[in-house]
Amino acid sequence: MQFALVARFQAVAAPFGEDALIQFHRQISYVALVFILTHPILLQLAGTDIVGLLNLAQAPLRARFAVASTVLLLVLVATSVWRRRLRINYEVWQITHGLLSVLVVAFALAHMLLVGYYLDQFWKKWLWAVMTAALVGLLLWVRVIKPLIRLRRPWQITEVTAERGRAYTLTLRPVGHSGFSFAPGQFGWLVVDRSPFAITSHPFSFSSSAEYTDTVQMTIRELGDFTSRVGQIRPGTRAYLDGPHGVFSPDRNEGPGFVLIAGGVGITPMISILRTMADRGDSRPVLLLYASHSLAEATFYDELEDLERMLVLTTVLIPENADPDWTGERGFIDAPMLSRHLSAQYVRRQYFICGPAPMVAAVEDALASARVPAERIHTERFNFA
Ligand SMILES: Cc1cc2nc3c(=O)[nH]c(=O)nc-3n(C[C@H](O)[C@H](O)[C@H](O)COP(=O)(O)OP(=O)(O)OC[C@H]3O[C@@H](n4cnc5c(N)ncnc54)[C@H](O)[C@@H]3O)c2cc1C
Repeated sequence: MQFALVARFQAVAAPFGEDALIQFHRQISYVALVFILTHPILLQLAGTDIVGLLNLAQAPLRARFAVASTVLLLVLVATSVWRRRLRINYEVWQITHGLLSVLVVAFALAHMLLVGYYLDQFWKKWLWAVMTAALVGLLLWVRVIKPLIRLRRPWQITEVTAERGRAYTLTLRPVGHSGFSFAPGQFGWLVVDRSPFAITSHPFSFSSSAEYTDTVQMTIRELGDFTSRVGQIRPGTRAYLDGPHGVFSPDRNEGPGFVLIAGGVGITPMISILRTMADRGDSRPVLLLYASHSLAEATFYDELEDLERMLVLTTVLIPENADPDWTGERGFIDAPMLSRHLSAQYVRRQYFICGPAPMVAAVEDALASARVPAERIHTERFNFA
């Protein structure tokens, strides 16, 4: 089940959103870990000499598999929980995570088959054989079949445009196929100048209007290994896109109006939503609260004025650092700031929040205390993994 949760099946992810699935994947791992650690303790209490079996030099193969699986599971969990603290590079972690997961399951299966006790009935053997086949099928689907499909649907980066706030917009054109349509606010997994079989792809929201499908755009802020090199990408470079993904979209959450709350590069899905609304002549009211380090770093700042003229849009810019003569809001978005801008009628609007995890959490809490119903609050976390 854990493998299926993270296999990026659009149909599975659609009702929840991919970040919710990843969060569930993480939480259910803790539950599984508790069960797995409890299992030998219960056996010991019931009279089986588990401690004796820990003497690996003499222990039977079934016990060695159990120990190997459990130790690798502990390593798997520790490297995921403390990835940043252990300074493990994301790509290294992703590959290790995949390999360890397969080994944990394979060793556990070997242990279960060798113990035999719970799997002695014919139908149980079949059940586990089918589940193993499903797992192998899933790996083949994610790592072979889907990349093969993407190989036949390449994209080309036609423009690389510098934006305010250490960001670049990539314009991508489908080559030899019709591309895809997406809902504003959705994202895709991008691979640049590598084969679609590359283990690591990076998720980015589409920043262009969903009404324009000849090309798609993604706006990327310099942050780490991959994103810092985006400015050096040459037009003409080949890319592969897996998408669209995600449920963070007004098209999936209709309402009489919208409140968009963006922090930093979290503006990208919002600009797609606003550009799409402008192209559709959508006259529903929108309030945009946009927090950034400074006005100079506020990506798309210049375009917001134009969008205000085309839409029923109110923009509140919130620089963390502003000149002394700046009379608008400043600092971090918090409950008092929200209450200054959200009047009572805003309760019926749909809320979209995207930005750094602490901002998203703080705004979610503030909206909950302002009695905005949870089903109208939609979030996108850019660091869900
Ligand atoms: C749904 C979604 C939409 C996003 N949209 C945008 C956007 O429009 N513009 C933008 O600038 N950024 C966006 N991001 C963030 C972007 O994906 C990361 O900043 C980028 O992948 C970092 O890669 P790096 O190698 O430069 O950084 P690193 O220094 O390697 O990583 C920094 C952090 O980014 C995350 N990360 C790194 N690689 C991946 C990966 N392959 N998959 C998932 N997470 C990863 C990890 O949490 C990591 O700790 C989005 C993220 C998500 C989840």
